[in-house]
Amino acid sequence: DKPPVLVTGGAGYIGSHAVLALKDAGWSVSVIDNLSNGSRDVVPEGVAFYEGDIADRALVRRIFQEQGIKAIMHFAGSIVVPESVEKPLEYYRNNTVATHALISEAVENGLEHILFSSTAATYGAPERVPIEEDDPQLPINPYGQSKLMTEHMLRDASAALPFNYGALRYFNVAGADPEGRSGQIGKGSTHLIKVAVEAAVGKRPHVSVFGTDYPTPDGTCIRDYVHVSDLADAHVVALEYLIANPETNLTANCGYGQGLSVLQVLDAVDKVNGTPLKRDMGPRRAGDPPLLVSSNRRLVETVNWTPRFADIETIVTHALAWERKLQTRNRPFE
Ligand code: UDP
Repeated sequence: DKPPVLVTGGAGYIGSHAVLALKDAGWSVSVIDNLSNGSRDVVPEGVAFYEGDIADRALVRRIFQEQGIKAIMHFAGSIVVPESVEKPLEYYRNNTVATHALISEAVENGLEHILFSSTAATYGAPERVPIEEDDPQLPINPYGQSKLMTEHMLRDASAALPFNYGALRYFNVAGADPEGRSGQIGKGSTHLIKVAVEAAVGKRPHVSVFGTDYPTPDGTCIRDYVHVSDLADAHVVALEYLIANPETNLTANCGYGQGLSVLQVLDAVDKVNGTPLKRDMGPRRAGDPPLLVSSNRRLVETVNWTPRFADIETIVTHALAWERKLQTRNRPFE
């Protein structure tokens, strides 16, 4: 059974890959996106597109009624950690308050399942890796806190109301659709792999390395990079699980359980690109935990997630192919 799904933020980076994964698997998909950080151009044909805000309850009601929506994949939100420190109220509004409005309207219109984009940032600076789902959640920035509040809201609301929920806690998402249908359009992206492939195509003079004195083998931060299309597949199997188990919720990490340092990532970019990037060794960036690596055992065991691209060179190859494609476009993404 594949009920119609509403993808919030479906014109954005991760959301658009989830739309592709759903479409490829034969689901009927609608998208709501306010285009604050996405582009209609990455939403495929055959998807009903609604431009607007998830906090617009009249619009959400109309979509549920027009499309017969029963399930939501909820990606819409603000995602830049340093920006969340500068503009905390914006983050609580976009990530927490807007989600409250979305859920409130959705439950009145027959919501049965919701899958929420959560984040490893809810763990803060963990004491041990690999991180397991029941480890302490002590966010160190408003971004992580705004996502954690939403997890709690979903937990409490799902206990009282007739829907179940999933929360996938993403580690470092990177790469692009292997068929080149979507990727990171990067309105001022700050993420390492995006920045590095921008440098590889000449859009930036160098890559800054933020901190070389961390307590890690090469002194740079370690992260668990996951291919966006594997993450999108995880959403499809997680939604199938929520549908098959309506009395159960699912909270799970989504990463490969493999840590790579900033320098190891840049080595992979150099190898794929064939020429070395200029590296600018700089000071630490505020708020970066030294080490974030997932345990993905729960996701693998519960929904049988089988990643297809769990390899940094594959991730970089797809990210670079997309970046080259962006370069040859005759108009910018809007
Ligand atoms: N990083 C870096 N240079 C950059 C961007 C990021 O050295 O231009 C580092 C950053 O300090 C962190 C890691 O790369 O240690 C991953 O950062 P990113 O912003 O990609 O993701 P985050 O882990 O902050 O969500």
